Amino acid sequence: MNQPIDLRSDTVTRPTDAMRQAMRDAQVGDDVMRTDPTVIELEERVAALFAKEAALFVPSGTMANLLAILAQTTPGDEILTHREGHIYYYEAGGYASVGGCSVKFVDDADAPKRGVLSADALRSAIRPADIHFPIPKLLTIENTHNRAGGVVWPMDMLGEVCAAAKEHGMRVHTDGARIWNAACALGVELSTLAADTDTISACLSKGLGCPVGSVLVGDRETIERARHKRKMLGGGMRQAGILAAAGLHALDHHLDRLADDHARARSLANDLAECSIFDFDPADVETNLVYAKLAEHAIDAGGDAFAWERTLESIGVLCYAESPTTLRFVTHLDLDDGAIQEAATRISSLGQRAGSG
Ligand SMILES: *Cc1c(COP(=O)(O)O)cnc(C)c1O
Repeated sequence: MNQPIDLRSDTVTRPTDAMRQAMRDAQVGDDVMRTDPTVIELEERVAALFAKEAALFVPSGTMANLLAILAQTTPGDEILTHREGHIYYYEAGGYASVGGCSVKFVDDADAPKRGVLSADALRSAIRPADIHFPIPKLLTIENTHNRAGGVVWPMDMLGEVCAAAKEHGMRVHTDGARIWNAACALGVELSTLAADTDTISACLSKGLGCPVGSVLVGDRETIERARHKRKMLGGGMRQAGILAAAGLHALDHHLDRLADDHARARSLANDLAECSIFDFDPADVETNLVYAKLAEHAIDAGGDAFAWERTLESIGVLCYAESPTTLRFVTHLDLDDGAIQEAATRISSLGQRAGSG
């Protein structure tokens, strides 16, 4: 049996020996009492990176997004978002069940790429003040956009949609689980990407390779409200410096290497696009996510993407079916050039067999 190559997600990375050492050596206190020096250092460092007043270390990206909602809305408010945004699609409906908010979708049909929202699209989704309508309070955007293929927001569109939200008295939250990847792909500072957004969540446990953790950043008052809500949700952690130390280590050692993940994703996409199983344009790959659409004949011969996911597993390549037609492959810290080449070789060998149909 081949050693499996795990391309399911960048969350599967395991802490490196050096990261474990940093965790072992961390100074700790009690973060609920606000006396954990390592958590404080991480929060101050991340706030500075994004040029915001304050930051809050939380267990997951899902909690960071939920806290952004709880801190900036009241029950009955409306959240405007993309129909395939993580907050709507993958967070167990927390915006509704915990936040008491409804969602209205902003369409991306007029945008140059999926997942990004024009100012016009936002304006046409906002309904006027009227006793019949909920109050549109928060726009959430996602950078990079996961289900749209890891796409990066163009800077001009980002500024325009945030300005349009502000014109209508709305706050803006950026789900920046992979904001590090967006900054790397564009070659801009994190503070530039955060300049027009009120709050931003960023995952430490994906491309940066930490075992646990996300950070929510924003103005002091909003983050203070989020801190209260974090306690309410049960996210107050005590000697959390053990985990924050991994985050500090990752900022020192794993930020600059994201460009390698992007180069590997492009190389994998090019190899897969040559393989008869798939029918997609590798030029659509902008960061570390490869969404590879199956060719029709491959679905006829080998079943839908869920069946192909199992077939690939049987040859030692782990990936996720994102829909009945599309497989997702993610490059990350634990996969080097050799592993990516080997994955492409294994998949291509299958393509030659299935490709006869
Ligand atoms: C992974 C992810 C999150 C948060 O995920 P957690 O598993 O809760 O940390 C949020 N938004 C996007 C776009 C993501 O990809």
